[in-house]
Amino acid sequence: MNESVNALDLSYEEWIETSVTQWKLPRYRADQLCQWIYDKKVFNVHEMTNLSKDLREKLVYELMILPPIAVREDTSKDGTKKFLWQLYDGERIESVLLSHGSHTTACISSQVGCPLNCSFCATGKSGFTRNLSAGEIVGQFLAMEKRMGQNINNVVYMGMGEPFLNSVEVFKSIRILNSQKMRNLGARHITISTSGVVPDILELADFPIPVRLSVSLHAPNDALRSKLMPVNRKHSLGSLIDALKAYKDKTGERITIEYVMLQKVNDEPEHAYEMAAILSGLGVYVNLIPYNPIALLQPGEQGLQRSTTDRIKEFAAILAKLGIENEIRKEKGTDIDAACGQLRARNM
Ligand code: SAH
Ligand code: SF4
Repeated sequence: MNESVNALDLSYEEWIETSVTQWKLPRYRADQLCQWIYDKKVFNVHEMTNLSKDLREKLVYELMILPPIAVREDTSKDGTKKFLWQLYDGERIESVLLSHGSHTTACISSQVGCPLNCSFCATGKSGFTRNLSAGEIVGQFLAMEKRMGQNINNVVYMGMGEPFLNSVEVFKSIRILNSQKMRNLGARHITISTSGVVPDILELADFPIPVRLSVSLHAPNDALRSKLMPVNRKHSLGSLIDALKAYKDKTGERITIEYVMLQKVNDEPEHAYEMAAILSGLGVYVNLIPYNPIALLQPGEQGLQRSTTDRIKEFAAILAKLGIENEIRKEKGTDIDAACGQLRARNM
């Protein structure tokens, strides 16, 4: 007997291959199954009424459709929702659903924890357990759509984890979400955020689906960046900027830069001048993110603080004066620890 297949991990080509070769079914059956899962969010084979009873009974044993299980859902004063999911092996991850007017954006995780340990990020502080599979990444999105009873408009890979340390599964999850026969989510509605894993930025430049790229900069020189983001010791600022230039030349796409505002750490006027200099000519759009407080795990660790509104405004004004377009990001979901950098593998 064949091993049963994990449905959410299948690309469209794998659906066809499995349906035709393993189950001896015509190709259109693969399309029907994808429609049930990705359009109708039906995860129970017994409810797939355009399949014959015999086929349903056979597929129940051959096909596992396992979206993550919700163990907790919180709703913020501003309407942001945070979901805590349990995976098949008991590991837990979080996703966030943000609404802006009638539109919604899902912020999804790519790893259980994150090994990169940025000093300002709760995910980094919670350590790293494992990568998520493509199906576990897509599953967060589908499970949120099913729970909300509506389609979600955008997805950002800005939850737990560094997407480019799990690029094979992350790229596969994008193909699944984007495929016309599957979720059919437009490339312009998908954003990857990276802390600066250079080889994968270059790989993204060659990826056939033109998703958006967001890069977490957070410091305008190597000394400070390496202190805040250990990934900079491996991929220096110079190599990162070169990769962004190559990406821009190849794709013509506008890159977003994320910069978390830390009081008296990276928010001095000189930092804004340095930043404008390294980003000059790249045509980026900068998001200034007021730092969201996180719980410190190690005793004696020095706490970081959010820059004052005046300092953030002054920083923004200097960048603008030097031709770097920017905006100050409105915080969302801080009261339920759902804001940027606040996600972790909590138990409750
Ligand atoms: N690992 C990827 C994506 C997840 S983090 C990355 O680092 O880009 C998503 C964004 O939240 C990043 O820009 C990250 O730097 C930012 N962030 C992390 N901790 C934060 C905090 N405490 N306050 C505000 N933003 C934070
Ligand atoms: Fe990892 Fe991103 Fe958090 Fe850094 S900011 S520890 S790369 S999730």
